[in-house]
Amino acid sequence: MAHTNISSLMTPDEALQKLLDGNKRFIKGFDAPDSFKYQDASISKAQHPYACILGCADSRVSPEHTFDESHGNLFVTRVAGNFVTPEIIASLEYGTSVLGASIILVLGHSGCGAVHATIDAVSTNVKFDGHIGQLIQSIEPAVAASRHAHLDTWMENAVSENVRLNVQHLRQSGPILGSLIRSGKLKVAGGIYNLETGVVDILTDR
Ligand SMILES: [Zn+2]
Repeated sequence: MAHTNISSLMTPDEALQKLLDGNKRFIKGFDAPDSFKYQDASISKAQHPYACILGCADSRVSPEHTFDESHGNLFVTRVAGNFVTPEIIASLEYGTSVLGASIILVLGHSGCGAVHATIDAVSTNVKFDGHIGQLIQSIEPAVAASRHAHLDTWMENAVSENVRLNVQHLRQSGPILGSLIRSGKLKVAGGIYNLETGVVDILTDR
């Protein structure tokens, strides 16, 4: 049976609930992103995603699996450390204002290597080769704001703070997202994916 592509006429709250319902199916073992064979043929002509995700590039955190979704339903931007850049904002503006997604979920995760590397950089002054230093710079504000004596707690707090700061950044990022939020057509939420349990906990949706 073909999976049906969903036209996005959902409210932001309905879209968030749909993501969380999909995450429950994923945890229970129903994860089955569709193979090409069963894909709705209409998605070769158009896309109508109901949700945008800003997630980490980590290979263990694939949004279509995490939310048990098929092709065409999620508009996903990923970068190690799941932070906002001008290009990411542009993509999310397109996913919401043009394609009609009614929620943006910033999705951090436990055990994030990019956050861990930033903690290392801040606490030991270690330097990273190539362009990795640029990632560190972008995550550093969250790491600095959540600094703590115990490394485990620092890591957990920094992952959460990084999500919160980037949610805030998107909520304040200019005319397109701002006007969608004010008109009630868009919500920016933040959540954390737990690598050990598969559960997504929502940190902020207001
Ligand atoms: Zn990560």
